[in-house]
Amino acid sequence: MGRAAVSAAAETFRFAPPYELPRWEFKAPPELASGKTERHPIVIVGAGPAGLTLACDLARRGVRAVLIDEDDTVGVRGASSRGICYAQKTLEIFERLGIYERIADKGITWSFGRTFSGETEVYNFNLAAQNASRQPPFINLQQFYVEWFLVDRIVELGLTDLRWKSRVTRIDAQADGVKVDIETPAGHYTIEADHLIDASGANSPIRRQLGLDAHASHSTDRWCISDVRFKKPLPVERWTWVDAPFNEGRSVWQHLMADGVWRMDYQMAPDCDPDAVSHPDVAGARLRAQLGPDVEFEFVWIGPYQYRHHLLNEFRAGRTIFIGDSAHVVSPFGARGGNTGIQDAANLGWKLALAVQRQAPPALVDSYAGERRHAAAENLLVTRRTARFLAPRSEAEHTLRRAVLQLAEHFAFARPLVNTGRMSVANDYPPSPMLPEGGRSVPNLPLTLADGRATTLMQLLGADTRCLGLWFAPSREAVDAAKRELKGQPIDLIAVGGGSGLPTLRDADGRLARQLDAVPGTLVLLRPDAYRAATLRAADAASIAAALSSALALA
Ligand SMILES: Cc1cc2nc3c(=O)[nH]c(=O)nc-3n(C[C@H](O)[C@H](O)[C@H](O)COP(=O)(O)OP(=O)(O)OC[C@H]3O[C@@H](n4cnc5c(N)ncnc54)[C@H](O)[C@@H]3O)c2cc1C
Repeated sequence: MGRAAVSAAAETFRFAPPYELPRWEFKAPPELASGKTERHPIVIVGAGPAGLTLACDLARRGVRAVLIDEDDTVGVRGASSRGICYAQKTLEIFERLGIYERIADKGITWSFGRTFSGETEVYNFNLAAQNASRQPPFINLQQFYVEWFLVDRIVELGLTDLRWKSRVTRIDAQADGVKVDIETPAGHYTIEADHLIDASGANSPIRRQLGLDAHASHSTDRWCISDVRFKKPLPVERWTWVDAPFNEGRSVWQHLMADGVWRMDYQMAPDCDPDAVSHPDVAGARLRAQLGPDVEFEFVWIGPYQYRHHLLNEFRAGRTIFIGDSAHVVSPFGARGGNTGIQDAANLGWKLALAVQRQAPPALVDSYAGERRHAAAENLLVTRRTARFLAPRSEAEHTLRRAVLQLAEHFAFARPLVNTGRMSVANDYPPSPMLPEGGRSVPNLPLTLADGRATTLMQLLGADTRCLGLWFAPSREAVDAAKRELKGQPIDLIAVGGGSGLPTLRDADGRLARQLDAVPGTLVLLRPDAYRAATLRAADAASIAAALSSALALA
């Protein structure tokens, strides 16, 4: 519901002035003047979090792309917070892209969560307790800010052809590429892409045109969001209620975002009227029931939502690759939607970069689909379980939930079973020829170089598209042989301790060795997306070369 629709209640409840979001102007592309159909290596459709991250990731790697969006701004009609919680892996990606500091400055860092049933706190967690990364477990920030910072960075990097007010109306798949028809304020034109990336969101017109069944299912569970500023000091923690007494025994979420705006998500009755429950009078009464009758507040935005799920069978159709919500949609519990899309982009970016630079074969790009579909299927499973806990559908599910809540009051073992959302984590990948041990993301470890300078894993992975071999106390001979064997290959070798002549990290207390489960002689091979590709216990030139070949699909 926008501001215009709520004027009847403007006297009762104040609305903050709407956000003023940036607009980027439409510029007529050269194809419109020339009438020629130009071919581009990479065309991305959709400047949401997934498409923007991919364009930024490619630009950071020195790779050009065309990015097309039908709109000329960020966010959903410039009003809603939509996605708010950005998870550690996403924040690590943002560090590499060069927008992390801006996100951290603007956003709200948190790691502590509490879950209530009625008035009783039944469960809490502190995600910082085990944190090994330079990034915190979570930062909350309105999604439009994330998109805005990504656009600014893309413009700064200067390699992406950003085409606003440009709507893809049709695609034609060809043997070695895709033709893309685009409608603009100045007329229609067609371009060709070696790779077309569909990041056009949950209602992807490309997916629809190709007739791909995403197995969509719509939930009957209904929610209403209030973005609101109020004068009541509350801790910067994630609070959720399974059955809040101030919301007629239904669930509630409470999160602080940037600009002092709280995001309150209220579960509604399944048969509610969405307009009625998001009327400011009703939303205001709900807020007063929660925070007290005298609480002073102003709304920023109020809106109902109903979630859905979908998952494509294949994340690739010929030369068209699906990322973000066009490939998968999950319910918002645990903040897995946008985070997964951003991590799709980070998985695909380095593979496309190496493929277009002819340093890796098409099979490397193909591996995106398997790895990220596995991640999406896992996220769907996890979020579905939460959805069923919050809105049980059968008598058995009701009974289970009642039992869990009763047990949680008295017994510690039952408390983690109270499921108000399993927070987004970097997904593991199953074993494959490229990841013989399976793939696990390595956190952005703070590190110290031999000369005492501080660095991080993300900084070592750097701007280029190169793997990283962290080699624990290698001998000089082994290093010299490996350098000869690996000459010209996209890998940087870094020693941990020892005097091998390589750039070297300190690990006097052995913490890094413990974190990576390494002993002297071990080489940990990391991909450019910070996933561990292999662990070589007694590394030598031949075994490193073989592991690198497998990781890059060259073998
Ligand atoms: C209530 C709610 C809460 C959420 N909370 C979280 C959260 O806390 N954390 C989280 O990670 N995620 C969250 N999400 C999910 C997150 O908002 C989405 O997963 C995310 O926006 C998907 O990003 P995307 O880039 O795939 O697609 P979108 O953001 O949908 O972007 C698609 C883009 O494609 C463009 N486009 C569409 N069609 C065309 C066309 N024909 N031609 C050209 N351009 C086109 C659109 O203009 C748009 O810019 C939440 C979602 C909701 C609804």
